[in-house]
Amino acid sequence: MRYSLTLLGSICAGLCFHAAAATAIGNVNAKRLIAAEASANDAGNWLSTGRTYSEQRFSPLEKITDKNVDQLGLAWQFKYDLDRVVQATPIVVDGVLYTTGAYSMVYALDATNGKLLWKYDPKVYRGIQASGCCDAGNRGVAVWEGKVYVGVYDGRLEALDARTGKKLWSVDTVIDPERNYTITGAPRVVRGKVIIGNGGAELGVRGYVTAYDAKTGKQVWRFFTVPGDPAKGDETDTITMIRTTWFGDQYWIQGGGGTAWNAFAYDPELDLLYIGVGNGSTWNYGLRSEGKGDNLFLSSIVAVKPDTGKYVWHYQTTPGDSWDYTATQDIIVATLPIDSKPRKVVMQAPKNGFFYVLDAATGQFISAEKFGSIVTWAKGIDKTTGRPIIDKEAADYWTEGKGKTVFPGSQGAHNWHPMSFSPRTGLVYIPQHTTAEHYAPLRKAGKPQKGVWNLGIEVPAVPEDKAGRDELAKLFTGKLQAWDPVQQKEIWSVPYPIMSNGGTLATAGNLVFQGTSIGTLNAYAADTGKALWQRQVSSAVVAGPISYAVKGEQYIAFNVGIGGAFPLAFGVVGERSPVVPDSRLFVFKLGGTAVMPELKRQTVRMPSPPPMTASAADVATGSALYGDNCAVCHGLGAYGGHALPDLRHLTADKHAQFQLIVYGARAHLGMPPFGGRLEPADSEKIRAYLIKRAHDLKNELSAEVAK
Ligand code: CA
Repeated sequence: MRYSLTLLGSICAGLCFHAAAATAIGNVNAKRLIAAEASANDAGNWLSTGRTYSEQRFSPLEKITDKNVDQLGLAWQFKYDLDRVVQATPIVVDGVLYTTGAYSMVYALDATNGKLLWKYDPKVYRGIQASGCCDAGNRGVAVWEGKVYVGVYDGRLEALDARTGKKLWSVDTVIDPERNYTITGAPRVVRGKVIIGNGGAELGVRGYVTAYDAKTGKQVWRFFTVPGDPAKGDETDTITMIRTTWFGDQYWIQGGGGTAWNAFAYDPELDLLYIGVGNGSTWNYGLRSEGKGDNLFLSSIVAVKPDTGKYVWHYQTTPGDSWDYTATQDIIVATLPIDSKPRKVVMQAPKNGFFYVLDAATGQFISAEKFGSIVTWAKGIDKTTGRPIIDKEAADYWTEGKGKTVFPGSQGAHNWHPMSFSPRTGLVYIPQHTTAEHYAPLRKAGKPQKGVWNLGIEVPAVPEDKAGRDELAKLFTGKLQAWDPVQQKEIWSVPYPIMSNGGTLATAGNLVFQGTSIGTLNAYAADTGKALWQRQVSSAVVAGPISYAVKGEQYIAFNVGIGGAFPLAFGVVGERSPVVPDSRLFVFKLGGTAVMPELKRQTVRMPSPPPMTASAADVATGSALYGDNCAVCHGLGAYGGHALPDLRHLTADKHAQFQLIVYGARAHLGMPPFGGRLEPADSEKIRAYLIKRAHDLKNELSAEVAK
């Protein structure tokens, strides 16, 4: 008896060892995530998209410092399957790094050497791209109790086994398949529930956030951010409350918008989940809500209870948003000295160009100042009411139907590229940029259709001549901005030649890391902004970098890969950037000796278009059709070519296959089929416009050569 017990004991010991090892993969839980807020705990891991629930993107690691960062060398690099947009913040748990590439593909890598442990392809239909606004990006996964969660571009939320990548469950988060819902954001897991929102406000949807049981995928609650069809009844008292801030019937027909496609944060002490809510659908306030009412919860931070999704408070950054001023930019929870007393706050630098500090418990307005370089839509924020003082003369384009150029434009003074906060310096590091947009209203809202944009404004025209384009490019610049959230002012900044640079990482080594649109990876002193280290890479950086440690070695990881709204639509600004599509994850350490891949650069190519035979009228019609159907991916004004093909360079065989391509021949590569949307005669007019633009480019390049 005694003998067998011992035998049983030894068998059990063996099994127990295996059982422990099995649960140790992807071992993130509430206790661990909450403890990691204190810097001594889990310093080497990056457990959630913003590292912890407060989303500060601050690494407590301090082996790499402002004194030795010049010795940073490549440890390893990983090449993605697709040379397409990479937006993911990797998650690192106990030596395993989880990241995503375009079309929601998930990768698990050995964090010490980049060896592929497994990958998962959710097999998104590539031709779906027209149903999203801003490329097939994915901002990363969540990891929780042995599972990896990914929000899939087509609206699925899936749970994978963290050890094998095998799919455990899959749910469809989309409430209406006839509307253009997509997911690009990273899920968060709070109190055992996976939290996910969606995108689509440019194409006519109603926003909502859903919580699913992390174990089973069963829906726990759903929080709608805007009211729906009144005939169907209000889902909650909160919907009844916010419906009083909307007018007419277009808002629910058009979807209303308010998508929560990016920002979430959680405070465990207050037990509040913070949701960043997006812009209106349509953009045009006059068409959407008769130009009346605040239109809650557009452009708001909303706090809810994570167990029930019950509303607690909201703060609206842009009442009656009419400019795509989302409040989906990342939300950071921190304790700041306010009036010399520590106060827990939430901070956000939304698109509208004002930096907000709010009380985390109540949503009470504390302060807001302009962080954007040029902000014209509002004169300031009223300190008593916390409401913007909107400059109607400068920004109201709907009342009289007169187009206006407003700063910032729809790309904002800051977009989703994450900012970071260092509790050491007390500064927030913002990937800021300057943008503008001409908002010219349409008189009538169209009916939302699958794969069709529906803004209620004209597609903005861009200058097609060199002088006008250069003027625009001079304006649309970026900077890394170190912002003091207590004094509400800039402390230092680093200028960049082009907008839409990567997210930032702050570390305890007095460092800030950021990649750029022009293909550089940079480290700066967190206190002074002094440039300390740089590497060049072939592609652009939009993602936020992270730091982690395995066995005492600290690493810095940069996801690199061009794509997203800016490079696709705004080639007019980025045309002179040297970067090319080349998607990789680069990981550095002190004394790293791995060899950087060969640097590839954009080369100037002379197009050889067919002769221009179409009439001026057909070219003009083609230009308008191009704007409505093609510009969002291939570039306004047909300035393109950074992330997707530059259509001014179509070869003779592509011209010959033009109709086939428009109607689906390259759908497997991501070119959506336009059957039912474009008649062949119309697509020929688009081709005529592209031939004209190719000749424009050829003439411009010839003139340069002649000089
Ligand atoms: Ca938007």
